[in-house]
Amino acid sequence: MADRPRFGPAGVPLAFGMVSSDLEDIPRFLREEGLDAFEYEAIYWGKKPQIKRERAERLKEKARENDVWLSMHASYFVNLCGKKDVVEASQKRLIACATAAEWMGAHIVVFHPGYYGRKLRNEAFKQCAQSLREIIQSLDSLGVRQVKLGPETSGKVAQLGSLDEVLRLCNEVERMQPAIDWAHLHARDMGRFRKVEDFRNVIAQIENQLGTEVARDLHCHFTKIEFSDKGERRHHTLDEQRYGPNFEMLAEVIAEFGLKPVVISESPLLDLDAVKMRDIVRRKLAEKSASSMR
Ligand SMILES: [Zn+2]
Repeated sequence: MADRPRFGPAGVPLAFGMVSSDLEDIPRFLREEGLDAFEYEAIYWGKKPQIKRERAERLKEKARENDVWLSMHASYFVNLCGKKDVVEASQKRLIACATAAEWMGAHIVVFHPGYYGRKLRNEAFKQCAQSLREIIQSLDSLGVRQVKLGPETSGKVAQLGSLDEVLRLCNEVERMQPAIDWAHLHARDMGRFRKVEDFRNVIAQIENQLGTEVARDLHCHFTKIEFSDKGERRHHTLDEQRYGPNFEMLAEVIAEFGLKPVVISESPLLDLDAVKMRDIVRRKLAEKSASSMR
């Protein structure tokens, strides 16, 4: 698990294209920016890994050399609550992602579990959990044994992925680790993060249901978000005051409990906002240690 709070972008850093076009140069680029995490975006992948094994293994090496924590965002084309053929295709896509994630030494494959469709919520949930159990069985038999799967809290009301559902999936299926997208929770629950306490409550709920370690070593996504009554609409940058949630409040809780999350920036400013979040957490930690010296 992560040894300290870590920060990095969801996908290729903004200015990276001017430096190189080689995937394997990203870890060094991030280290030079003072970042230490990277989420590889496999979001448009189909049923086969869309990276060669060699290239994935080179990325692994470079990430290790530069002390960058790798994760992967799986294909968007996943619905584990749909019709039989949709579920089977989704399972193949997730297996392809997890296979390549293991090649690159990624710690977790974040994925969107699916849509309720016309199903009752609990029925959709049961189907999703069963599909995931089958995926884990296949991964075991393929020898893909390290990488975890991370059901992500969803940003839309029509998508399975409330905080409760994500934690329940992690309880009921082995090898799951929750992927907490704070912006999605904010959008799905119509602006639930208004004060520090609201963040603290989520951490407490995770700890109650999955234990202290899971709460301390969270994998999360952060960005500001605009939403409607259906949920998320658009991601915004950290400096846009009119949108929430407020990262300062999460940073407060990270410092208060000594959490060590991996925080992936999904802001339109990706790595630049990751640097900002890192600095906010550093400041909160310094304030905390200063106040404990008094
Ligand atoms: Zn996502």
